[in-house]
Amino acid sequence: MTAKDFEMVLQAARPKSPPLVGLAKRHIDNLLRRDFIAGAALIDGRWIEGNQRDVVIDPATGEVFAEVARCGAADMNLAIDAAQRSFAQWRELLPERRGAILRTWASLMLAHTEELAVLITSEQGKPLAEARFEIGYGAGFLQWFAAEGERAYGETIPSHKPGSLLQVRMQPVGVAAAITPWNFPVAMITRKAGAAMAAGCPVIVKPAPETPLSALALARLAEEAGVPRGVFQVLVGNPIELSKPLLRDARVRALSFTGSTEVGRLLLEGAAQTVKKVSLELGGHAPFIVFDDVDLDKAVNGAMAAKFATSGQDCLAANRIYVQRGIYGAFVEKFAAAIAPLKVGHGLEAATDIGPMTKSSVAEKCRAQIKDAAAKGARVISAKQDQVFGPNFVVPALLSDVTDDMLISSEETFGPIAAVLPFNSEEEVLARANSSEMGLAAYIYTDSLRRALRLSENIEYGMVGINTASFTGPPIPFGGWKQSGLGREGSRHGIQEFMELKYVCFGDLVA
Ligand code: NAD
Repeated sequence: MTAKDFEMVLQAARPKSPPLVGLAKRHIDNLLRRDFIAGAALIDGRWIEGNQRDVVIDPATGEVFAEVARCGAADMNLAIDAAQRSFAQWRELLPERRGAILRTWASLMLAHTEELAVLITSEQGKPLAEARFEIGYGAGFLQWFAAEGERAYGETIPSHKPGSLLQVRMQPVGVAAAITPWNFPVAMITRKAGAAMAAGCPVIVKPAPETPLSALALARLAEEAGVPRGVFQVLVGNPIELSKPLLRDARVRALSFTGSTEVGRLLLEGAAQTVKKVSLELGGHAPFIVFDDVDLDKAVNGAMAAKFATSGQDCLAANRIYVQRGIYGAFVEKFAAAIAPLKVGHGLEAATDIGPMTKSSVAEKCRAQIKDAAAKGARVISAKQDQVFGPNFVVPALLSDVTDDMLISSEETFGPIAAVLPFNSEEEVLARANSSEMGLAAYIYTDSLRRALRLSENIEYGMVGINTASFTGPPIPFGGWKQSGLGREGSRHGIQEFMELKYVCFGDLVA
């Protein structure tokens, strides 16, 4: 949808709510005046304005509040040349030096938390408190990988050849590309770039067109932190046009992507041309399983966090909340009561719990899932709102009596709609949880240790929270099974996605 189309839809749907309009623009104009962001792209250490411009839209109001340079394939080729040139020096720096630069970059992010948070909220829509949290979370990956780079050990293998020394070395793979999403526009960049740069690889970032400003602000801070030219570059533009050169060019040795499974498949296919190292963090469809032996309040609090963080636009979001039959009614009642006061609004307003959906297509998908579920017999209980907003807003809702044939039971929602399904036995719920082709995160609430151990062993998901909805962070291996992705981000494993193993055999050592 173009800015003009969006404005037309919005005008038709929007009641008069003047305080919201202009909110993002006032903040951003201030940041532009202070030169905190550039409406440009960073290629080979130069900020280019570009011949064409793309607009940035406040998803809450539809207002165009900034412009950025629209890069094309020729710009991307220049960026790949520059990255390749920078590789030799960057890989030669001692890991300690690279780490120091990453730590300085993280400190600058933290020092500018407020400015970065305002940028995120303005272009992505999430409540400001969540945007502030994202800066700490995002800076944490730079700090984590600064240290991991210093610990990228190889190994010595006990020799099976007489008189030989067998060594395994870890070496940087080469130029890396990062194609990043709009739901965590800062942290998904630092989780990839931190790992790649600590490993010794230059990175080219193509952020989501909806959230370019956060990426460009990160690039400004990277420059200030002393990241050498060509080592961290950001290009905004048409995703297909910009990804083609990245996929085709054999000098780009690694590709890290976060986004939809559909695009992940396309990129995997494209990267096959030059057999790149590919890591993919794709969609989820998390089961959230509540057994009848748990404290209901704890389970409801967990479900609130697992469903409504990032306004539901989170790949870890609980998509199927299975509740054991005996406590089903009580759970629905308490959950609905917790959802009722959630306040929908502009993310820059202090009272807001749920911001707009960043993309209108996500809001439309939520509405289609509600419609489908209601038509098939689900009960819809919505949060109470005193105001009506524009088309990108979705009022949080609970769907009860959801069945496996409803769209929401198999299609990722990515919005603030909670589907609650009853179940009878452990075997039944395990089979239903595992029936998905997605395998990112799962949540299990039970007081039985035996059951927790059994289920955590047999559930087919890459990350499992037992009696908790909060388990991510730099030390953990983030990633999914099945069609939720390939590889891991964060943790000691994340850096491996940007390194190659080299086996060296020193023979004939006996004098
Ligand atoms: P998307 O996959 O289209 O976008 C993610 C990134 O891929 C963006 O940078 C986008 O510009 C880029 N991209 C899109 N098409 C491309 C192409 N053909 N070639 C190269 N790059 C391309 O995601 P979306 O449409 O914005 O969101 C749709 C759904 O994806 C969401 O509803 C959600 O289910 C999922 N999603 C998941 C995550 C996650 O954290 N895993 C993040 C965003 C979206």
